[in-house]
Amino acid sequence: MELLRPSSVDELDGGLFIHGGTEVVPLLRDGIVRAETLVDVRGVVPRGVTGGRIGAGTTLAELEADARVPDALREACRLAASPQLRNMSSLGGNLLQSTRCWYWRLKFPCRLHDGERCHAADGEHREHAIFGNDYCASAHPSDVAAALLALDGRVRTTRREIALAELYRLPDEADRRMTTLEPGELILEVEVQPPAASTYLKAMDRKRWSFPQVGVAAARTGGGTRIALAGVAPVPWLLDGPEDVERATPLPRTAWKVDVARALVRRALAELG
Ligand SMILES: Cc1cc2nc3c(=O)[nH]c(=O)nc-3n(C[C@H](O)[C@H](O)[C@H](O)COP(=O)(O)OP(=O)(O)OC[C@H]3O[C@@H](n4cnc5c(N)ncnc54)[C@H](O)[C@@H]3O)c2cc1C
Ligand code: SF4
Repeated sequence: MELLRPSSVDELDGGLFIHGGTEVVPLLRDGIVRAETLVDVRGVVPRGVTGGRIGAGTTLAELEADARVPDALREACRLAASPQLRNMSSLGGNLLQSTRCWYWRLKFPCRLHDGERCHAADGEHREHAIFGNDYCASAHPSDVAAALLALDGRVRTTRREIALAELYRLPDEADRRMTTLEPGELILEVEVQPPAASTYLKAMDRKRWSFPQVGVAAARTGGGTRIALAGVAPVPWLLDGPEDVERATPLPRTAWKVDVARALVRRALAELG
């Protein structure tokens, strides 16, 4: 395997991007992802916060400590992973992390591995999705993406600028991808406008170093309040309003997540005042 270290966007030419490597390295090690060329993008992707613009190379550790970053995003970063991982983890890599579905990680031939069925739907799915789960029932693991979705963040790539919501798609039979990024498209930065108030609440197995079972981000701006959830659907999930929780379609053993989501949404809105 070769490792390339480009210093400008013009030098990009295929290969698998790697930033902090906290996700890519385990996937390569376990044979879930294969690559002949790894492209270390740390010399290309901006890092740091300038006004409302956040370089996709900024680490979660840097974001959690930066007072200019909206509360919801800072808290989502603070509650993610472990201090060591947050020091390595880039914002861009976090948004593009793969599902934690144990069947997928164990290479069961499920739909996301181009197979015919969802093993979780028929099997063990206590931590799986309660929305958008009819084709794939995985639960999106990014706290950060939910916070940015509530904050109505925008993503700038090497090819376009889109709302964060447009970065993700629910997989279906015709197209099993979970994001709309094209091969070779690199996320450069994320833009967020400062909200009047925002918050992020997270239910997890342990108090530290645990993926969200349910994460709830809420942000109040002049235009109203946006609520977005982590850990409840294959992609970060935007609610139309608090009552939208009742439209969940839980699997037999994920109904408990609806209760947790309902309670956290109520608490998050109370925090916003
Ligand atoms: C044990 C553990 C616990 C964790 N807990 C949490 C948690 O509680 N909450 C949470 O939100 N996350 C959690 N994470 C996820 C962690 O935050 C991500 O692994 C990390 O943010 C990925 O960043 P990275 O720079 O290491 O990405 P990499 O591993 O380098 O890359 C990840 C993916 O993104 C692609 N990529 C990287 N940068 C770019 C870019 N700029 N443009 C386009 N593609 C890019 C890579 O090709 C790859 O597909 C956890 C991870 C681990 C291993
Ligand atoms: S939830 Fe998705 S990733 Fe998990 S087994 Fe089902 S299709 Fe595969």
